[in-house]
Amino acid sequence: MTNPKPSPRQSWVWRELERLSTCASQNALVAEEFARENLRRLRLAAPTIVSVNLAVFLLFVFNDVTIGARQARWSGAILIIHGVMGVMFIAVGLLAHWRLKRPPHRVWDQVLGLTGTAGLALGTAALSIVDQWVKQGIMTIVIGFMAGSMVFLIRPFHAVVLFCSAGVIGVVGLALTQTSPVVLISDQATLVAAVVAAIFLASLLWRERTVNTLLRRSLRDSHAVLEQKQAELEILARNDPLTGLFNRREFTRLAGIELARAKRQNIPTAFVMVDLDLFKHVNDSWGHPVGDEVLKNTARVLLGGARQADVVARVGGEEMSLLLPNTDEAAAVTLANRLREALERTPLERDGQVIPVTASFGVAVVPPGSQANLENAYIAADQALYKAKERGRNRVECAPVRSGALPGETTSGA
Ligand code: GH3
Ligand code: MG
Ligand code: MG
Repeated sequence: MTNPKPSPRQSWVWRELERLSTCASQNALVAEEFARENLRRLRLAAPTIVSVNLAVFLLFVFNDVTIGARQARWSGAILIIHGVMGVMFIAVGLLAHWRLKRPPHRVWDQVLGLTGTAGLALGTAALSIVDQWVKQGIMTIVIGFMAGSMVFLIRPFHAVVLFCSAGVIGVVGLALTQTSPVVLISDQATLVAAVVAAIFLASLLWRERTVNTLLRRSLRDSHAVLEQKQAELEILARNDPLTGLFNRREFTRLAGIELARAKRQNIPTAFVMVDLDLFKHVNDSWGHPVGDEVLKNTARVLLGGARQADVVARVGGEEMSLLLPNTDEAAAVTLANRLREALERTPLERDGQVIPVTASFGVAVVPPGSQANLENAYIAADQALYKAKERGRNRVECAPVRSGALPGETTSGA
């Protein structure tokens, strides 16, 4: 069943309402960040405004412009307004500085930012109002409104309330000080235009900044997800998912690097192959999930017993390998026996029953100065492991590493 098609008018209204509600929810998302940004701007703007207040104050103090009573009233009012504005912006600036050192508080930060904007709008409105005693034109209020709407990030609703209120005060105030009806109507018309322009400008800047902020946030989130996925992929490419040990590919890579280093530094490198004894029997008796637990337990024991610099990897089903840098045969055999005993001592328990597990170890050492490669070492370790199985399992055996061409391989030119 399809919904009845809305009339064009209905759909237009609906669309606009939806757009407004989207804007409102987006505004709420950025409100706290923008309130904070306004405090930073206020902290910068406050000393600037205070400097202007001070400069005008000094200008009026050191220049006698009181030709008549009207001018005296005007210059007195100008001095008072600039004095009040200066004090207010010193206070507001200090408060902004103090708030920025505290954790964000949406309401207080927002109120302080709006106080700054309102102070600027009302201060300049007051200046323009008293200016009418001696001149026509409302340049000061227009500058105040434009600066307020451009310097601060003002939510459209707040912009309407703030600039309309200041505008109404300005329109009424001008009527009190401007005696010429023609000038008055012209100034009031300019003020209405300034109110509309300030609201438009503030809303435009707010909207633009909101869209950019939300876009930047979504980009940052996507980037974080991507980085996490990449890290997961790297782990997957390097590690065995069941035991967490390095996988065969990573073991081969690390062994290649280590053998090259050992050749340069003329030091031995030991390889140990570990194969669980009669593991098929564990699977057959306890099931594969328990077999998996045994493999994880074995990995834990090997990792716990190996040294910091050793590399432990799962290279096959129930086969694991160790790469022991700078280790001779005696040290490798000692370590292998220690691991073998640790494994025997740490069986897995299931439902109160112990699952005894042992492993056989094949040790092969590439001696200093040897030209043997990883494949030569692998073959020797495998032979040693085979010997350990043959001689009764749960033991450590060694085999010499032969360098040069492997059986069945031909050397070039042969
Ligand atoms: P041996 O002492 O001669 O090594 O005997 P074995 O039973 O350990 O050797 P065999 O190669 O016959 O069996 C290895 C078993 O390891 C067979 C296979 O089911 C099991 N296996 C391999 N990979 C996994 C795994 O990821 N999880 C489980 N649970 N078992 C595995
Ligand atoms: Mg095996
Ligand atoms: Mg086995």
